[in-house]
Amino acid sequence: MKSLYFKFAVTTISIMLLSGLISFLLSNFYYQINLKQKNDEKITNFALEVSEYINYHNEIDLTKYLEHIGLLGYQIYIVDEQGESRFFGATYRDKNLSSTTVQKVLNGETYHGINHFPHTLFVTGFFANELKNTVGVPFESEGKDYALFIRPDIKLFFNEMHLLFAFMLVLTIALSIVLVLVITKYLIRPISKLNSATKDIANGNFSISLDINRKDEIGDLAASFDDMTKKLAKVEEMRKELISNLSHDIQSPLSNMRGYVNLLDAPSAKERSRYIDILNSEMNRLSSLTKQMLLLSTIESKKEIMEVKEFNLGGQLKKVINQYQWQLSEKGIMVSYSSYNVMIKGDPSLLYTVWENLLTNAIKYNHEFGEIEISIEEDTSSVLVSMKDTGIGLEPNQLKRIYDRFYRADHSRTRSVDGTGLGLSIVQSVIEMHNGEIQVESTKGEGTVFNVSLPKL
Ligand code: ADP
Repeated sequence: MKSLYFKFAVTTISIMLLSGLISFLLSNFYYQINLKQKNDEKITNFALEVSEYINYHNEIDLTKYLEHIGLLGYQIYIVDEQGESRFFGATYRDKNLSSTTVQKVLNGETYHGINHFPHTLFVTGFFANELKNTVGVPFESEGKDYALFIRPDIKLFFNEMHLLFAFMLVLTIALSIVLVLVITKYLIRPISKLNSATKDIANGNFSISLDINRKDEIGDLAASFDDMTKKLAKVEEMRKELISNLSHDIQSPLSNMRGYVNLLDAPSAKERSRYIDILNSEMNRLSSLTKQMLLLSTIESKKEIMEVKEFNLGGQLKKVINQYQWQLSEKGIMVSYSSYNVMIKGDPSLLYTVWENLLTNAIKYNHEFGEIEISIEEDTSSVLVSMKDTGIGLEPNQLKRIYDRFYRADHSRTRSVDGTGLGLSIVQSVIEMHNGEIQVESTKGEGTVFNVSLPKL
């Protein structure tokens, strides 16, 4: 597998080289379609100047004059009607020139070799040191017709520049490659860190610190990763707690039951019936624990199981209160509730569990002869059910945890009361499934109020 570093570096360097090549081809193209003609015109004007000067100054020493022009930075080739030719200035790399071209110039035509120099992809015509790549004009000297072919000596003009440009180009390429390699390493480093952090997490080590403080996408990713790690650590902690709570909650009724089963051969019938009662209640506790766990896992794994229909919420609350009437009167608790019809869309059996849990809690954690006040209010879009008790209440730190699975506040007190610590987790999940909200307020020693708001439709 090629590393991301390798891929990134190779891609960037390839892009650089490719764009270099493309810009070279484009500038070459620009020379061909625009600059070439201008260049040809400029040199043609110069050639005509030279030819005119010779034509009007018959007395000048032609050789000396052309040598001078050559020294000024031009490559010159002259040929007369007899085919006698001479070169001045720097030599041409390629001295091919057709005799018809020479003849045409001798006949008085101007040759635009620079403008007609063939298009070649990788050769800039401007630099081609060829006799073909010249401008040709006729002139006359001492009664003889000549053809003069001329082009600037690019090497003379550009030699140092050439070196400078080449040096700049090589330096730019080398520096860019080094910088790409260094910067890619810097860019990739957090990804390597994230990768090793992922492996740590897979091995169950959540105490990792990424130390990536960047304000870009990778910084965002690292922040989300940190968040995810914290959540995973919490889930892991909850999982461990859940297993230990679960084993405790199953183990303690089981060992109680084992103890009482051994006592069932007690001689007194009264004692035996007491033990059977205890066994029954422990069995009920185990059964309600498993039922609640099953419900919770069903709710969490299959949210689409909801059987939504329109029903009368006011009537449902009344039914729940009636079902627990016996327990209420046993504890001497007064319930105030004035039922009226409020229609709502939801899963009736799941919502029944909600009111059942809230009401049994309000009874369980209430004082004898306490009170429970249930109210129902509605507006255009939602229904608010509130259940207020005058029970033992909760401290703020306990309040924060009441929705956690298996959490039971104030152990010494509540252990004596039946419960699994799962009821409110179920309540919260069901309300979330209905897109509702649950809020709780509580004062230690005074009581607790749960406010549930549910969208009507
Ligand atoms: P449990 O089966 O123990 O009642 P819940 O999930 O229903 O489990 O409640 C979690 C804990 O929250 C309870 O153990 C209790 O300590 C606290 N609690 C719930 N409802 C009330 C209430 N109305 N008044 C005081 N404490 C409550």
